[in-house]
Amino acid sequence: MKRGKLIVYTGYSGVGKGTIMKKLLATDDSVRLSVSCTTRSPREGEVDGVHYYFISKEQFEEIIREDGFLEYATYCDNYYGTPAKAVDDMLEKGLNVFLEIEVQGGMQIMKKRPDCVSIFIVPPSLEELERRLRDRGTEDEETILKRLSAVEEEKNFVKYYTYTVLNDDVDRAAKEILEIIHNS
Ligand code: 5GP
Repeated sequence: MKRGKLIVYTGYSGVGKGTIMKKLLATDDSVRLSVSCTTRSPREGEVDGVHYYFISKEQFEEIIREDGFLEYATYCDNYYGTPAKAVDDMLEKGLNVFLEIEVQGGMQIMKKRPDCVSIFIVPPSLEELERRLRDRGTEDEETILKRLSAVEEEKNFVKYYTYTVLNDDVDRAAKEILEIIHNS
């Protein structure tokens, strides 16, 4: 069986990656989302093992020592990482696996797996991004400000991604992404 594609899927906090991802999962049977490990606390409504594996810093560092992550990074004071085995098992089955990860992790994957497809989701404007992040209402002010300042750093990495997709409309962006993964 043909191995699936590994997709690095990145975008600023609040850009709407999660909403587009839901659409992709609902419309294409070949699409899977890798479930990451994180040391941050669950948000209202997030389920362990579904949205993330919520683990302690000690547990995370143990997995680093065992070389169990395909990539990992620190973002706004927490660890985030992609469990390697689960991803490779899905790729073996011919599934197209999305890694919804930030830029440092994205760069690690591009180096380690040069055949990956890299996609960066951008907002119509930074004002719009700030509005979306605030409207979501899931973060306190300090976290919102940290995430907005992370955008300044993340901006510098957009150029390393093969595809940039504008999230002006969820359905349109999802359609464009499916065209990219099936034609690249
Ligand atoms: P959030 O806390 O909003 O769920 O995620 C914060 C950032 O971490 C987002 O940019 C998200 O894509 C990224 N992220 C989530 N999981 C991983 C991961 O496994 N590795 C890396 N490097 N980043 C991740």
